[in-house]
Amino acid sequence: MEPPSSSGFYVSRAVALLLAGLAAALLLALAVLASLYGHCARVPPSDRRSLEVPNAASFSPLGQEGPSSTQEPVPTSEPQVTATSQDWRPPGPWDQLRLPPWLVPLHYDLELWPRLQPDKLSVQLLRFSGRVNITVRCAVSTKRLLLHSLFLDYDRAEVRGPLSPGTRNDTVGRVPVHDVWFAMDTQYVVLELGEALRSGSRYELHLSFSGPIFQEVREGLFLNTYTDRGERRALLASQMEPTFARSVFPCFDEPALKATFNITIIHHPRYVALSNMPQRGQSEKEDVNGSKWTVTTFYTTPHMPTYLVALAICDYDHVSRTERGKEIHIWARKDAIANGNADFALNITGPIFSFLEDLFNISYPLPKTDLIALPVFDNRAMENWGLLMFDESLLLLLPSDQLTEKKTLISYILSHEIGHQWFGNLVTMNWWNNIWLNEGFASYFEFGIINYFNPKLPRNEVFFSNFLHGVLKEDHALVSRAVSMKVENFTETSDINELFDLFTYNKGASMARMLSSFLNEHLFINALKSYLKMFSYSNAEQDDLWRHFQMAIDNQSEILLPATVKTIMDSWTHRGGFPVVTLNVSTGFMKQEPFYLGKAENQTLQAHNDTWIVPILWIKNGAPQSLVWLDKSSKVFPEMQVSDSDQDWVILNLNMTGYYRVNYDKLGWKKLSQQLVKDPKAIPVIHRLQLIDDAFSLSKSNYIEIETALDLTKYLAEEDEIIVWYEVLVNLITRDLVSDVNDYDTYPLLKKYLLKRLNSLWNIYSTIIRENVAALQDDYLALISLEKVFGAACWLGLEDCLQLSRELFRKWMNHPENEIPYPIKNVILCYGVALGSDKEWDFLLNVYINTTKEEERIQLAYAMSCSKDPWILNRYMEYAITTSPFTFNETNVMEAVAASEVGRYIAKDFLINNWQAVIERYGTQSLVTLMYVIGRTISTDLQIMELQQFFSNMLEEHQRITVHAKLQTIKNENLKNKKRNARIAQWLRKNT
Ligand SMILES: [Zn+2]
Repeated sequence: MEPPSSSGFYVSRAVALLLAGLAAALLLALAVLASLYGHCARVPPSDRRSLEVPNAASFSPLGQEGPSSTQEPVPTSEPQVTATSQDWRPPGPWDQLRLPPWLVPLHYDLELWPRLQPDKLSVQLLRFSGRVNITVRCAVSTKRLLLHSLFLDYDRAEVRGPLSPGTRNDTVGRVPVHDVWFAMDTQYVVLELGEALRSGSRYELHLSFSGPIFQEVREGLFLNTYTDRGERRALLASQMEPTFARSVFPCFDEPALKATFNITIIHHPRYVALSNMPQRGQSEKEDVNGSKWTVTTFYTTPHMPTYLVALAICDYDHVSRTERGKEIHIWARKDAIANGNADFALNITGPIFSFLEDLFNISYPLPKTDLIALPVFDNRAMENWGLLMFDESLLLLLPSDQLTEKKTLISYILSHEIGHQWFGNLVTMNWWNNIWLNEGFASYFEFGIINYFNPKLPRNEVFFSNFLHGVLKEDHALVSRAVSMKVENFTETSDINELFDLFTYNKGASMARMLSSFLNEHLFINALKSYLKMFSYSNAEQDDLWRHFQMAIDNQSEILLPATVKTIMDSWTHRGGFPVVTLNVSTGFMKQEPFYLGKAENQTLQAHNDTWIVPILWIKNGAPQSLVWLDKSSKVFPEMQVSDSDQDWVILNLNMTGYYRVNYDKLGWKKLSQQLVKDPKAIPVIHRLQLIDDAFSLSKSNYIEIETALDLTKYLAEEDEIIVWYEVLVNLITRDLVSDVNDYDTYPLLKKYLLKRLNSLWNIYSTIIRENVAALQDDYLALISLEKVFGAACWLGLEDCLQLSRELFRKWMNHPENEIPYPIKNVILCYGVALGSDKEWDFLLNVYINTTKEEERIQLAYAMSCSKDPWILNRYMEYAITTSPFTFNETNVMEAVAASEVGRYIAKDFLINNWQAVIERYGTQSLVTLMYVIGRTISTDLQIMELQQFFSNMLEEHQRITVHAKLQTIKNENLKNKKRNARIAQWLRKNT
């Protein structure tokens, strides 16, 4: 799957806002799911909806014999299964998260029949029915069968066998099924048998079932509705990873329980059905009402886990290409295909497959690949074998995507999902605790692939921006989880869902990158090749991977490691956090300690036995030096000594390939800031970025003084790399500083200090924007950094920035068909409104009313809150709670106004007078959020009391308590920031 979108620079601000909205929608969806779950648990089996489910007696095994019967089956006199829910059961294996090892699934014949009809889209509750025959081998004799099952109702459950070896025989005996019941919490269906299955024998489980098609969440089998060619349409798609296959069919839903699948889909003739494998045949079927349905069967899949099973039923068009004799299709709305929106992705998909086939020397085993662009897909993308799914915004390139990072983003996401065809699909982690083996490597190879096709893209800087930057900020010794977790740490199914986070993706990718840095690329790839070959169609543990690296190491003599690969890597993957490595350049003494967020003064004194085995690649005066290892808590490296008098300087962690931060003694930092002033270009861009990022982060957590970090910014007049500026501005112009009008001290000093230095960079980019904005298209780092740089320049009052904003805004007002350059659109809209009057504001409102694009609406809603006129802001909030169109969208206008520069006090007053209406419009929870936004700059208890008094009658008792606690935290945080800002101000006074 795709990484969480908050992981770095992947998304622009507007998209981030949009995603924040989606997160709220997801919460809502979870609530719906929870209530649905509760509902299912309560409904007695007799209340189940009646369904047109074929009777199991006429259910011939699918696949081998071809498509199933085209006649509706005649009910037999066999008694129907009555599934009962778990009233009370003694403790047993159904209380465990993991399946007991009694049965091994070998093959599934799966038939699914969702009742989606293009002319009946208004049907409220869509359902599907299904049948599955699972061939299993009994490993431990048992009278009880456990399968995963969630939200499914059963009509029939039979067990046949033992099967004679090598044949499929329907005339074999039946094992009586006495009871079928559900263990709801652990998501099992339990079959109680009349006699025990024999160990070593094979059996067939025949189950008929039905279940819901989800509309609010994109899990299991779900519905998307959308518009195409001016018509409302619908499609169905599936998302099984990690644990949703069990809501589509009863199964052994664990990644190591791989099997082959023969899939059959029954669908309306107007739709096309897609699955992992190519279509094998089609036939027709009539239901009891006389409606005709198409039965599509697919070829047998390779051995694969349940979470990769996929299907889609849609009314889409496609484009195709052949790569090395295999068909690649991209499916999307007919309009999108006609407009060529899928062409960019189609052109790069084949070459990415070929590149990875050659790199790993393993052919992609499936005969075809389908990629489908879904109108709404929460997971962003999913690597299902042979049927990759994407949110359409991440696969299709629209004309309006000019000057966005969309092309690069599509390339990365495609590379990631195609990388999974090897890491995950061919070789799968043994269980979810090691999901990083899938996601970390798929993420790492994004960079190898993109770099191959686009060698000019600055690989290290992009990896820093997209991966390292985000995760280093979140990872720290006390609370972060390990990349590779113990299975025992998982108690509930929901624990598995929480694994798809920064640590799995970003830290996982960083682990792979660090490993490749201290081996070499050749050895790294060779080890992976032998690992992939060995575990093809099977599963692996982290230790299996390390073993293959060790074999590669042992087969050569050039690279020597201080310990086994397993010992080195376990020190990184089995615990949270990362080390701070400190070098004293006078003595060459180097030590490591865990990074704590906000380290207390005495924390260094604490003994910590845990050490990382740290690879230290380093440079001296710009030249790379040989690798050394810090394999204990401290060590002396005489070769790293430099004296005060000589010109030498040293930087550790070459290209930031190591997953750690670097600290120096006073002399070490001084040498670096002097070097930056003397000749900044002697220090590579990635290390200028590293120095800023490490120094500000270390100062924030009390490892070094803030003045040391500030010293590194003196050279900035000579800095023309926008990504370095981005990093500086993120650290200096924080949200707290922007919203704290009481901090009159820092602002003018910062303005003077930064504007003087920003000039040359400003000239470069303002000229490009004025004269040749198209030149930005291939500058990825500029596309992701420009908004911050422009926003800062205007906030600091740079006259030319304000002038440019006025110009571009006016140009756009006169010719709205000429878009504002995307990377700076938010800034221009905001300052256009801030510098303008109600004329500009009304113009935005008009655009807002006439646009249907959600992303643009969010952008405009925020821009309208930038006004500096109190009466306009008051009117805006009045509109928001009373008039359409604001009543129909999800942007919380109150919050936007309260978060804006002058809006806080206006929002507060407005709220006091209108809180009933605000609750009606946005709900009580929004009051709590508003309190935090309004209270963002408080620094005294009196202010807390005052706020609480204002809002006491609006909040419930429990809300008052949480708000009070949160305000206290905000206050303490602000007091700390104030001290820091005072020191920044003092430093600026001295250095301006
Ligand atoms: Zn993934």
